[in-house]
Order: sequence, then C-alpha cells, then structure tokens
Amino acid sequence: REAGVATGAGDVLPKKLRQGIILGKDGKPCRSCNSFADFKAAKSSITTTSSPNTLTSSLASQSPPPDCPPDVETLGRSSWTLLHSITATYPTQPTPAQQQDVKQFLGLFGKIYPCWTCAEDFQVWMKENRVRTESREEFGRWMCEAHNGVNRKLGKREFDCNRWEERWRTGWKD
Ligand code: FAD
Repeated sequence: REAGVATGAGDVLPKKLRQGIILGKDGKPCRSCNSFADFKAAKSSITTTSSPNTLTSSLASQSPPPDCPPDVETLGRSSWTLLHSITATYPTQPTPAQQQDVKQFLGLFGKIYPCWTCAEDFQVWMKENRVRTESREEFGRWMCEAHNGVNRKLGKREFDCNRWEERWRTGWKD
C-alpha cells in the first residue's frame, strides 16, 4: 500500500509524506485521512527541531478547533454515530426492499467515504464480511463488528457487541 496514488493521468503520486502524512489523490495532505495530532507532529518535525517551547505548545491541543474541517477522528466519530444510529432505527423485520436499500447505501458509503485509505480498507472488510441485514439485531451486530475491525486495526480496545443496542438505541441499563 505504499506504491502510490494513480491520478488517472498516467502518473502515480506517492501516498505518504516522509513525516507519515497520508496524501489525497491531488497529491496534497489529506485532511480527512490524518489526525490533527499527526499534522501538528509533522509540522513541528519540519519547523523544528525547533525550540522545546514550540513543540510543547504545538502538541497542547490534539483536536481540531470545532469550526475547522474535520480530521480523520472527528469525521470517524460522526460517521460511526450515523452508521450505528441507522442500525438502531432499522426495522426488526425489514422488507426485502429495506434490506436492499441499506446494502446499496453501504456500497456507496464505502466508495465515497472522504478518508480514502479508510474507504479502501472498509470496502475490503465488507467483501470479506458480507453485510447482514435480515433483522435489526443482525445489522446492529454486523456494524459493531465492522467498527471493531477498525478498532483492531488502530490498536484500540474492542467493544462488546452484546451491548451495541444499549450504546446506540436504548441507553445503558442501570
Ligand atoms: P470511535 O471509534 O469513533 O467510536 C465512537 C464511539 O462508538 C465510542 O466512544 C464508543 O462508545 C462506540 N464504539 C466503539 N467501538 C464500537 C463498536 N465496535 N460498536 C459499537 N460502538 C462502538 N481512522 C483511522 O485512523 N484509520 C482508518 O483506517 C479508519 N477507518 C475508518 C473506517 C470507517 C468506515 C469509519 C466510519 C471510521 C474510520 N476511522 C479510521 C475513524 C476511527 O474509526 C475513529 O472514529 C476515530 O479514530 C475516533 O475514535 P474514537 O476513539 O473517538 O471513537
């Protein structure tokens, strides 16, 4: 996956800068593919080897300001909120047409997700783990497993999928 990004014009751009920043298909740093913290770290490694004060202040905030375009983490949290909320309001006994709708939605979602590296991996995951749409319970669990796939990739703790409905539909039991 280090080969490069095909631009469609016959040339291939590198996918990452030396500082580990993922590039967009236009060859520029991709906002929605990197975290704000990664951008800051890369910037300070360029500007610096600068003074310790600069480094400390540049690492002080790890999230983008609320009125800035989203980084990979802000985009991810919002997207998971949407995806799990869709499973939470999905019918318990969906019709074939409703099942077709969510399959189509996820197929397109996987293609147009703004973090293109995330999108590519999500498409692969969906090929290996066909979406289960036959009931709300199955769809909710499938989405939880999809989210856990990304959690594992990022070295995060897995979520207990027996509790997906408490987290996203009913609220926690006392
Ligand atoms: P998030 O992972 O965003 O989770 C939000 C909340 O969901 C958590 O607080 C928790 O309460 C709940 N939750 C956590 N796990 C589960 C689960 N399994 N089931 C149900 N609820 C759960 N980021 C990258 O850096 N690289 C990637 O390749 C990448 N791929 C992504 C692919 C997709 C399709 C999406 C939607 C996001 C992707 N992200 C990726 C973003 C990443 O998953 C996180 O959203 C981001 O790192 C912020 O993480 P977070 O710890 O704040 O919580």
